[in-house]
Amino acid sequence: MIIDCHGHYTTAPEPHQLFREAQVEAFDKGEVLPGLPRISDDQIRESVEKNQLRLLRERGADMTLFSPRASTMAHHVGSEAVSQQWTGACNDLIKRVVDLYPDYFIGVCQLPQSPGVPIEHSIAELERCINDLGFVGCNLNPDPSGGHWTSAPLTDRSWYPFYEKLVELDVPAMVHVSGSCNHNFHATGAHYINADTTAFMQLLAGDLFTDFPDLRIIIPHGGGAVPYHWGRYRGLADMLKKPLLAEHMMKNVFFDTCVYHQPGIDLLFRVIDIDNILFGSEMVGAVRGIDPETGHYFDDTKRYVDALNLSEEDHYKVYEGNARRIYPRLDAILKERGK
Ligand SMILES: [Zn+2]
Repeated sequence: MIIDCHGHYTTAPEPHQLFREAQVEAFDKGEVLPGLPRISDDQIRESVEKNQLRLLRERGADMTLFSPRASTMAHHVGSEAVSQQWTGACNDLIKRVVDLYPDYFIGVCQLPQSPGVPIEHSIAELERCINDLGFVGCNLNPDPSGGHWTSAPLTDRSWYPFYEKLVELDVPAMVHVSGSCNHNFHATGAHYINADTTAFMQLLAGDLFTDFPDLRIIIPHGGGAVPYHWGRYRGLADMLKKPLLAEHMMKNVFFDTCVYHQPGIDLLFRVIDIDNILFGSEMVGAVRGIDPETGHYFDDTKRYVDALNLSEEDHYKVYEGNARRIYPRLDAILKERGK
């Protein structure tokens, strides 16, 4: 099987986004928008079949771990109540996609984070999505302020109640920021990659996995700048008197393959152990065009991974085995289906 661990519903039907706009407008007037967006199954089918499902089939993958559009999580917009309502609507919509196409999509949830609000307030929605909706993971925003980094580092004890719940539920978190309201940082070109790199360095500087040996964190977009600067991080671990990275973090930290050119994928696989790499494309997402140098979509990452000519064992790990190990609930669902 070929499992894409990183897909977003970036093509959600228009009423979903209109609901969001109305919700924010209502908040600005001091009101609360009642209800939820009305979206038909046909609207969902059309939005998925023309986009994610078509590309999945064309590119030869089997399924996607599917989460709400990351850039519009926008935890910095409105209040905690706004974030809770919006997150519920986004996760419910993912559940409808999964119900319509259970063979192709499995849910990963957004969290109702808000700047300055304790992470405990996101636990109920995590539990609802995992226990009631059958999702297998979550996207955890290390910077709900949207580019101003007002939260404590991920190793701070204020995050611990959430990690305890992740371990209890046996689900991983993908570290994933949302839109940027800091004009210095382009959302997908700078803010995302900054956050990936920042999260890795926070984890390196701390000792989180001593306290949570079973916690699993996925750093998307190929780990940001980390693989390219692997020598720097090995050197910093040495300077900070930390164990070797393999011991200190790499039993708990994983990177995906959302890197949009062959030399980047080559480097990722040369530097990072195969057990720490998950296939992902983030389609339809950050970069949607066709590379004029290759004639193929930039985000057709399967093409780059296939070009590595991996051994059968490594091929299995990257495309299926690692995902089943890191997302045990995904593994359980697949086993139930005889896969
Ligand atoms: Zn993403």
